[in-house]
Amino acid sequence: MSFLSELVRERVRLRAANRCEYCLSHQDYILGRLQIDHIQPLAVGGLNTEDNLCLACELCNQYKWKQTVGLDPESGEVVPLFNPRNQRWREHFNWSPEGIEIIGITACGRATIGALRLNNNLAVIVRKNWVQAGWHPPN
Ligand SMILES: [Zn+2]
Repeated sequence: MSFLSELVRERVRLRAANRCEYCLSHQDYILGRLQIDHIQPLAVGGLNTEDNLCLACELCNQYKWKQTVGLDPESGEVVPLFNPRNQRWREHFNWSPEGIEIIGITACGRATIGALRLNNNLAVIVRKNWVQAGWHPPN
């Protein structure tokens, strides 16, 4: 565990507009509290600085674990995972037409979807219900 002040945690939450910065799940629609993720994990030398922090849901945070790279299934290349601090979500991902699955539109996007299992069975079922409720996808 790392020590992060409440002030820093609050700033990370606000910066992310209270959404997971990987799967875009909003805090208002999930039961668990969104967590602070180290983009470069502390275990591989990442720092506690705000430019290395992002907001992540429990599933994304767990699946990401200590990973920093992933396999792009299309090119077969190992590439760095999506970094919410210096990359834009919309340049690497898109929603499927029904808004239920995340589509990778770059090698980084596809590798991140695989590594973080952004379209895992639980997420897909929950998103289907969010779409029916009119809560999803985010604009
Ligand atoms: Zn997430």
